[in-house]
Amino acid sequence: MKTIDRRRFCRVAAGAAVATTLLPGASGRLAAQEQTNEVKSSPVIYRTLGRTGLSCSILGFGAMRSSDPGVIRRAIELGVNNIDTARGYMDGENEVIVGKAIQGRRPQLVITTKIRAASKERMIADAEASLKALGTDYLDILLVHSFKNTGDLAQPESLEALAELKKTGKTRYVGFSTHTNMADLLRAAAKNPENPYDVILTVYNFTSNSDVGDAIHEAACAGIGIVAMKTQAGGYKEKKMGNLRPHPAALRWVLNNSDVSCAIPAMLTFEQLEENFQVMNGSFGWMDRRTLHRYGQAIDRKMCRFCGACTGQCPHGVSVADLTRCLIYNDGYGDPKLAAATYAELNHRQTPEACLSCAECVVRCAYGLPVAENMRRAMKLFA
Ligand code: SF4
Ligand code: SF4
Repeated sequence: MKTIDRRRFCRVAAGAAVATTLLPGASGRLAAQEQTNEVKSSPVIYRTLGRTGLSCSILGFGAMRSSDPGVIRRAIELGVNNIDTARGYMDGENEVIVGKAIQGRRPQLVITTKIRAASKERMIADAEASLKALGTDYLDILLVHSFKNTGDLAQPESLEALAELKKTGKTRYVGFSTHTNMADLLRAAAKNPENPYDVILTVYNFTSNSDVGDAIHEAACAGIGIVAMKTQAGGYKEKKMGNLRPHPAALRWVLNNSDVSCAIPAMLTFEQLEENFQVMNGSFGWMDRRTLHRYGQAIDRKMCRFCGACTGQCPHGVSVADLTRCLIYNDGYGDPKLAAATYAELNHRQTPEACLSCAECVVRCAYGLPVAENMRRAMKLFA
C-alpha cells in the first residue's frame, strides 16, 4: 500500500480546497499552490500565499539593504512580483527607494512593509507614512515587526490598529515577523481560530531546528501564508569553502519546502539577483546537500539559530540573541551600518555594558556559540 506523509496529506487537502479558499479572507486549509509562469517562458515559479490567495513568485525581493531601485526594477521585469521593505529600514529611505522601483507597476505587485508595535494611533500614523513613502494608496501586506513571545499575538493596541487599517483599505492583509521563538509563535497563530494574522514572516534556513519546519507546516495547513527570511544562514563567505557557492544551495533548501510560499533574500546587486533567480531553475539535490554540510560545519560556531533559548538567561538583562543578530549583520552580511542600526534599537539594559563588570557569563547557548566572547565583540564593535 502507498503511504502518504503528513506534508503531502496537507498538500492534497489544500489542493481540494483551492477553489473556495482563493477568496481573500476565506478560511480553511491551504498550502502553497504552485504554478509556472508559462506566458513569459521564464523559469519564475509562483505559489499561493496561504488564505490571502495572492500569487507570489517563490523568489521575493528582500529590499532591506537595497539602495539601487534599478535592481528591484530588473527583478520585477523578470517576473519577481513580491517586495519586502519596512518603515524603519534605512531610516525610512528604503520605502522611498522601493516606491521609485514600483512606479507604474503597482497593480501587478505584492508589496509588504512592516511597522513596530506601539500605540494604535502611532501604528496607524506609521502605516500612513509608509503609504506616502511608497507612493501607493494601499499595501498588500502589513506586518508588525519582530514578535518575540505568544503574548505579542494578543496585544490589544496592535490588534485594533491592524483591524482599522484593514477596514479602511490601507492594507489588504496583515501579519507579523519573528526572529525568535518562531515555533511557538507559528503554532499559537495556527491554533487560534480567531487569528487575524494572514501572513507570518519567519526566520527559516537549513540550520533551523526541525521543530520550526514542523510548526511552519502546521501554520501553512491552517491557511497562514509563510514567507521565509534569513534564508542564507547569515550569508557568510568562508575561505574554507573554496569555489563552493553555498548561498544558492541554501535558498534551494528553503524553497524545497512547499509549505513556504516564498523567500525574500536580500539582493543588492544585479549579480546577486541573477544568482538567486537561477535557483528557481533547479531542485535541491545531493550536491546542494553536500555543499550545505560543508557550509554548516564552517559556520557552526557563528550562526545563531534564532531559537530563543538564551532569552532571559542573563541576570543583568543583556539581550544575547539580539546582539548575536547584530554580529551576524556585521560579520556575515558584511553590513556594519545595519548592525549598528539594529544595536541602536536596543534599550540600554539590553546592551552588553553589564558584561564589563560581570565575573562569569552564565548564559548558555543551545548551539554552543561562545556567548561571553560574542558579547565582548559586540561591545567593542557597537558600544
Ligand atoms: S557576561 Fe553573560 S551573564 Fe554576564 S552580563 Fe554579559 S551576558 Fe550577562
Ligand atoms: S545565541 Fe544560541 S541560544 Fe541564543 S538564540 Fe542564538 S542559537 Fe539560540
